[in-house]
Amino acid sequence: MSKTKYVYFFGGENTDGNGSMKPLLGGKGANLAEMAKIGLPVPAGFTITTEVCTYFYANGQQYPLELKAQVDAAMAGIEKAMGKKLGDTEGLPLLVSCRSGARDSMPGMMDTVLNIGLNDKTVEVLAKKSGDERFAWDCYRRFVQMYGRVVLDMKPKCKTDHCPFEDLLEAKKKKAGVDVDSDLQAEYLKELVVEFKAAVKSQTGLDFPEDPMEQVWGGIGAVFSSWMNDRAIVYRRMNGIPHDWGTAVNVQAMVFGNMGETCATGVAFTRDGATGAKGIVGDYLFNAQGEDVVAGIRMPKKIEVSMAQEMPDVWEEFSKVAMILEKHYKDIQDVEFTIENKKLWMLQTRNAKRTGFAHVRSAVDMVNEGLITPERAIARIPANDLTQLLQPVFSGEGLKGRTPLAKGINAGPGAATGQIYFQPEEAEAVWQKDNNAKIILVRHETTPEDLRGMKVSAGILTSSGGAASHAALVGRQMGKAVVCGCDAVKIDYKAETVTAAGKVLKKGDWISIDGFTGCVYDGQVPTSPSEVLQVLFSKTLKAEDAPVYQCFHQLMSWSDRYRKLAVRANADTPGEAEQAVALGAQGIGLTRTEHMFFDHIEDFRAMILADNVEDRQKALEPLLKYQQDDFEGLFRAMNGRPVTIRLLDPPLHEFVPHEAKEQEALANKLGISKEKVAQRVKDLAEFNPMLGHRGCRLGIVYPEITRMQATAICQAAVKVMKEGIDCHPEIMVPLPGNASEFKHQETVIREAAQKVFEKAGITSDYMVGTMIELPRACVTADKIAEHAEFFSFGTNDLTQTGLGISRDDYGTYINEYQELDIFAADPFQTLDQEGVGELMKIAVEKGKKTRPNIKLGICGEHGGDPASVKFCHKLGLNYVSCSPLRLPVARLAAAQAAIEEA
Ligand code: PEP
Ligand code: MG
Repeated sequence: MSKTKYVYFFGGENTDGNGSMKPLLGGKGANLAEMAKIGLPVPAGFTITTEVCTYFYANGQQYPLELKAQVDAAMAGIEKAMGKKLGDTEGLPLLVSCRSGARDSMPGMMDTVLNIGLNDKTVEVLAKKSGDERFAWDCYRRFVQMYGRVVLDMKPKCKTDHCPFEDLLEAKKKKAGVDVDSDLQAEYLKELVVEFKAAVKSQTGLDFPEDPMEQVWGGIGAVFSSWMNDRAIVYRRMNGIPHDWGTAVNVQAMVFGNMGETCATGVAFTRDGATGAKGIVGDYLFNAQGEDVVAGIRMPKKIEVSMAQEMPDVWEEFSKVAMILEKHYKDIQDVEFTIENKKLWMLQTRNAKRTGFAHVRSAVDMVNEGLITPERAIARIPANDLTQLLQPVFSGEGLKGRTPLAKGINAGPGAATGQIYFQPEEAEAVWQKDNNAKIILVRHETTPEDLRGMKVSAGILTSSGGAASHAALVGRQMGKAVVCGCDAVKIDYKAETVTAAGKVLKKGDWISIDGFTGCVYDGQVPTSPSEVLQVLFSKTLKAEDAPVYQCFHQLMSWSDRYRKLAVRANADTPGEAEQAVALGAQGIGLTRTEHMFFDHIEDFRAMILADNVEDRQKALEPLLKYQQDDFEGLFRAMNGRPVTIRLLDPPLHEFVPHEAKEQEALANKLGISKEKVAQRVKDLAEFNPMLGHRGCRLGIVYPEITRMQATAICQAAVKVMKEGIDCHPEIMVPLPGNASEFKHQETVIREAAQKVFEKAGITSDYMVGTMIELPRACVTADKIAEHAEFFSFGTNDLTQTGLGISRDDYGTYINEYQELDIFAADPFQTLDQEGVGELMKIAVEKGKKTRPNIKLGICGEHGGDPASVKFCHKLGLNYVSCSPLRLPVARLAAAQAAIEEA
């Protein structure tokens, strides 16, 4: 019977594993094996596989029978490699550490025990052989403390609980008259060990284990148990790490950075993890153990500043090892090391966690250094991280010492600081007085009516609504920082206050929101502008003076070389269109025409209030002119690229005033009674407007609206073509579920177009197509494609209607759903491939069956989400369309999809 190998030894030539075995050995174990294999100085040890963790949880926290013998054999291997014995009472005893190591690193989420192997006898030998009694007893008291906390579960259970070890330590320092732990002399440390053990006995009823092997097994059990602690579970959920991966356990010989002044310990990055700049950066401390460097009790020294002077030989060796590791892994390494009596030991290496800036710069530099290929650079940058390069950011310094007041959904990337305003009209008035005013619009939620106020705000904070709510998608498209669905903030419009974490902020008070993290802060947090946008859009910076831009540009040009999907933008104004082109848009995939009406809301309301077709037609006349102007602006800005324009979509109720005062003002303006206005508003109200009289249902009941919009589009095209600019309008019908609905609208559009072109004597190359945003449209796509020249998936509505979940209301329970792992992700942020994706697949197959060359795109928010973009690539769409600031993300994700497929 073949025996399962549960334990892998590492150390010199006898190393069993290697760097490719992360699923089995975890990241730390695989990398320790790899470092040992390539001849780097790694203290010997062994890794217990992740399979044991899975077994442990599947079998009532028991280990496989074969494990004990394999651990014993591997322990003998460590003893041989290090020339020391566990529990030795003659020579210097072997001490070991016990650490977790999952497939993906989960920094700080699980438990560690150091200095295993110390007991009342070995501590005396360690003291004698090291010639440093204080060192030996300090190791021992740290061990009892750590073992008590981690293995014997003597951690404080809540914030108000005291840690018995900390209390005893504090009392001892008081007695000794010292301020810091490191000033406690051996006699006090001896007393502490006795007191710590007494605390163990009184709290757990157990004697502290003296047998080193029993201690080792205690450590192993604690690490496996910590896989299921709360913070590890939460971290996995946040980072998409499956719970069934399990952790490995690494048992490794201890080396000491705290055995005197020729010893040190440190952590380093082979390049800067914040900026990606070349050169080792890191921290080290003389005469210290690993956790001292990160714990912040003593101020560490900067490796790049003083290590070369203070330890020239070690520095030379360390910088060589760091470069070997970077070349070997072809990526920035995050390493831990210890220097024991001037000898360097490497304790860990892993690919460094880094910002989007560091991702881009290091990947581009490494291609230029010949270390990696452009494909590898493209493949390894998390596409979402590119948004960091386009947004003003809260700098690390600015955030120092601040705690968020609340946390909502991070819906629009960016950092914004401004004064609180609750009413969009007031925000607009403030901005009109001072164009430099910094405003954060704070609302329960936003509606299209709030658009003007949103436009002038630096950021938008809402207490309800999810990632596809109006505030989120419109704010994101405008490039605003948006935090939405933040139900921890209580907004009182009447009192003009917002309350969070017990703090009451008034209108005009300063508040800061971070759309990257969803955090809301009190006061002004300083920001700095995006370098990339300064070069590409505002032209306030030259490319040659902008190193971040240069790397960004290089990465984008590589991405464009590989990707097969075209990218378009969702843009409603010439300004947005120009920004989109600067960021690589090859067309506009969605213009929401209703947003234009908000600039001419009075005329639009007159149209809605018209009683009959003649009055409506008259009211549409000024709107035709405004719309034509807007479309001309878009066509000019897009300079020959295709522009998809969607006909009016939202229910009319969204455009009429709801307050009696406003209704009266409108009635006066239109010369009708206020009762008539009120009655019309009442007539338009619907129980469920998202499933109500909206989309093409409007154009079917009021064909004159469709006619006006089609006429405006075609007249604009003719005018711009006469200026010598090419035009490719794509007129898009919203929300049909039946081919007959589309056919009706197509007829109205084509008749209007023909009239315009006949009159003008020139014809624009235009298309008529449709949104696919209802399940019925997907399953009858073959019939719709008999008439429609293109499909654009409106996945916001398709998710809403496919899942039966209101996009405006799901914020109240989505967090709970994710907490309970019912939904792995927010379906309005990342496409539900299993459900909505299948509907899309049906539509693509059926559409292509009728019209093999049908043009296919997506314009829902998912068009800028990396996983969804990759899905669209697989589905064979022609393009994805997203908010301008997400274009670089889409370009990179599309290239990644093409590379993954190759
Ligand atoms: C959609 O439904 O995906 C879409 C793009 O349209 P809107 O968000 O305007 O409803
Ligand atoms: Mg829609």
